[in-house]
Formats: sequence, C-alpha cells, structure tokens
Amino acid sequence: MSVILTETNGSNERRKVAIVGAGLVGSLAALYFARNGNHVDLYEYRDDVRKSELVQGRSINLALSQRGRKALSQIGLGLEEQVLSTAIPMKGRMLHNIQGKTSEVIYDPSFKQCLYSVGRKQLNELLLNACDKFPNIKCHFDHKLTKANVKEGQLEFKRSHSVEGIKANADLIVGCDGAFSALRQNLIKLPGFNYTQEYIETGYLELCIPAKKNEFQMPPNYLHIWPRDNFMMIALPNQDKSFTVTLSMPFDIFASIKNPEELIQFFTHYYPDALPLIGKEQLIKDFFKTKPQHLLSIKCRPYHYENKALLLGDAAHAMVPYYGQGMNAGMEDVTLLNSLLQQLPLEEALAQFTEQRWQDAFAICDLAMYNYLEMRDLTKRWSFRCRKMLDTLLYRWFPTIWVPLYNSVSFTSMPYSKCIANRKWQDQLLWRTFLGFVVGGLGVTGSAIYWQRFR
Ligand SMILES: Cc1cc2nc3c(=O)[nH]c(=O)nc-3n(C[C@H](O)[C@H](O)[C@H](O)COP(=O)(O)OP(=O)(O)OC[C@H]3O[C@@H](n4cnc5c(N)ncnc54)[C@H](O)[C@@H]3O)c2cc1C
Repeated sequence: MSVILTETNGSNERRKVAIVGAGLVGSLAALYFARNGNHVDLYEYRDDVRKSELVQGRSINLALSQRGRKALSQIGLGLEEQVLSTAIPMKGRMLHNIQGKTSEVIYDPSFKQCLYSVGRKQLNELLLNACDKFPNIKCHFDHKLTKANVKEGQLEFKRSHSVEGIKANADLIVGCDGAFSALRQNLIKLPGFNYTQEYIETGYLELCIPAKKNEFQMPPNYLHIWPRDNFMMIALPNQDKSFTVTLSMPFDIFASIKNPEELIQFFTHYYPDALPLIGKEQLIKDFFKTKPQHLLSIKCRPYHYENKALLLGDAAHAMVPYYGQGMNAGMEDVTLLNSLLQQLPLEEALAQFTEQRWQDAFAICDLAMYNYLEMRDLTKRWSFRCRKMLDTLLYRWFPTIWVPLYNSVSFTSMPYSKCIANRKWQDQLLWRTFLGFVVGGLGVTGSAIYWQRFR
C-alpha cells in the first residue's frame, strides 16, 4: 500500500532532496519530506538494517520521550502507536547501592509520565518500512557519501564492492549521517561555519542481563542505575525480557581491569547484585570482547548552507547519551524544520532553523554532560532526593508554573534553553526562600534571647 502525499509545502515547490544517513533521524526526515511532496533519495552507508542481524557497536535500546513521540505522532502514519505498543514504559529510576539494595525515584509521581525503552533496530525498521510505502522515497543502501559539493548540489557515493564512485545530484542535501558526518566535513570548509567537539574521559561498554525462564530478572519498568561516584552502570529493559546494561567509566579504570579475576573482583565489590544476573562467564566474555567506546559532544552552527544543505540529528549536535535525548532531539529537529517549511520559503526556513535551534542544541549538549554527574553521583545524595521531593510537590501544586528540570526536558517540548533558564529561576527562588527562613529564624531567635535577657 502506498501513501497519499499532501499537496505542497510552504515554498510551494517539489524538490529533489538527498538525505544522507538512514538512521533514526534520516529515515524520519525522509518521511516528512516525502509527505510534503518532495522526491527523496535516502542514502545509507550500511546495508539495509532490516536484513542485518545487529546494529554493530550501537546501543541496542533507547529511551524515547516526549519530543521523539511528538515527531512520530505528527507524521500521522500511526507510528507513535506502533512504537508504544511494543515499548516498555520506565516510570522512574531504580537505584542500586553498593550493598545491592534498591530504592526507586519515580520521574513523575503526580502525572505518571514515563520514558519508553524502544529497540533501536525495531524503530529503524519501522521507519524504513514506512518509507517503503511512499512512492517518492527511494532508498539506496550500501552507499557511503565520499564527496559533496553543496554549492552545486552534487554528491558522490562509494559502494562496498565497487571501485567506481556513484554520482548523484539534489536541490537540497540533508546530512543525517551521525556524529562523524561526512556532509558536515564539507560544511566545515565554508567560511562562517563554527565547530567544536569534546571527547569525554569516560568510555562505555555494553553488557547484558539475560531473561531467566523467559522472565525479566529485575523489575522491568525502571531505568536501573548503579551510581558509583565517578562511574556508573545503567540498564534498560528489552522486549525479549533481557536488559541492555551500559557500563560507563573513565578509560583508566577500564584499562586497570586486565584479566577475568580482576573483573570479577571489581564487580563483586561494586555491583554485587548485578554480577549473578549477568553471569560470571558471560560478563568475562562480553567485557573482554570489545573495547570501551568513546563518547563525544559536538556543537556547530549554522546548520544550513543557503537553500542547498542542512544538518540534522547527531550530525548537527552529537551529545553524550546521559540525558537520553540524542535521538529525541534529532527527531525534534525534524518537527521544527517541518513546521518552518510549512510557513516559509526554503532558504528562509533553513536560516530560521539554525536561528531557532542552535541555542537549544547547545543547551541539551550541556545538559547531557550535567546529567552524567547527576546519574553517577548526585542521585545517591540526600540533598538530591530532598530537592526531588520538593520539586515533585511544587509540580503537583503548580503544574504549569513549576516544571522540574528533568520533567521539562523529558516530558515537554519546552525549548531546551528555556528548561535551563527555568531551573535557574527555580534555584534562585528556593535559595532566596531558604535565606529568608534562615534570616527570619535568626531574627526571631535573636529577639527572643534579647527579650528574655533585657526585659
Ligand atoms: C550508548 C548510547 C545510548 C543512547 N541512548 C539514547 C537514549 O536513550 N535516548 C536518545 O534519545 N538517544 C540516545 N542516544 C543517542 C542516539 O543514539 C543518537 O542521538 C541517534 O542515534 C542519532 O540519530 P541520527 O540518525 O542523527 O544518527 P545515527 O543514528 O548515527 O545515524 C546516522 C546514519 O548515517 C549513516 N552514515 C554515516 N556516515 C555515512 C556516510 N558517509 N554516507 C552514508 N551514510 C552514512 C550511518 O550508517 C547511520 O545509519 C544514545 C547514544 C549512545 C551512544
């Protein structure tokens, strides 16, 4: 069955759009462009994910939240419903202390909003299947972008079994080719393009808690966290009742674990409850099988070049994964772009996209860095829990005024920079109220003492 296209876009023109990268953001962007009547060529370096076993080296599951859900729902193909029908809701964090005792911190006790654990591969497959229903989307797998001339709209791809380059052209080139974007490499050479990247000292490695007797070995509706000051482990539930476990640690700690005995000692000390769930043999196998992966944060701008090229998703703003927002932010890029394209001619829409997006993209990159600290360290502290309780109460009483930071990022579409500004005034207000109480309390105590002594 193919899909009926909507008539025109804001610029009233149907274009030839080349999207580089058929990951989560690229395949979603293809759907939006195609629905607006454009002809879309979707080029992907890898083979078709639907025909391959596993997305190598990538996280198996992801936390989907409001921004991603909105993008899936707005395309109007029933995608959000389909995703949620198999996704696993995560209503809060379950913290595992060093003795193996657990405690829960619910994300939103008042309105019961939650994150959803979704399979990366399943989501990508769903989006590509939806692409197949559009006659005006053509997917080209095993096409690696090697050269681009954005000014002329020319592209060159390489296929794995061919020496010959494949040439293509487009009116608009959209780079959804991830953190190491080949298209961005071309934009970097243009004057006025700003770019920074930062690798963090922490690497990550994926492990697995398998299902036992076809059941989850831990409560499934949580994002499990083992905070250990300057490192941590997290686990998200999978549809097959296993958990994907991500161990995040400074590289020197990874390097200090040299053999199976040291690894078991390390886990016995820091993750005593997780060790039997993962299983010693499996842990040793998975830990030494791959090297820890690097994590980086990328900020750049502008995201566009005239009316000819645009970056979306990780290509525009890669971030460390600790807020679970990389994919969500990338999908939100697509909804913002789509709404601008409905209203403005292409060049203006792209310029506005950069203008409206860069501060928010920078903000979420910073927030993602901050959340690593929160997850590995702050969640353990009483001050954090008290603040969380206070936030929850105030949010329940004043849901439109007092939206806590985590909730505004994960459960609303509030611009990320506004989420930070919001948190700042909340901090200031609480601090002033606290000072007011202290000064008032001191005043009352002083007056009482004075009155007692000198009356
Ligand atoms: C450990 C980890 C956990 C994460 N957890 C979450 C989470 O819970 N929630 C969340 O929202 N985000 C999460 N993220 C972030 C999320 O994975 C990314 O933000 C998201 O995948 C970005 O999508 P994208 O389509 O922009 O880029 P990618 O997913 O990187 O896709 C880029 C695509 O482009 C292709 N490509 C690359 N180069 C070329 C080329 N030269 N030519 C053609 N094609 C090319 C690639 O093969 C790939 O298919 C996590 C990331 C990591 C590493």
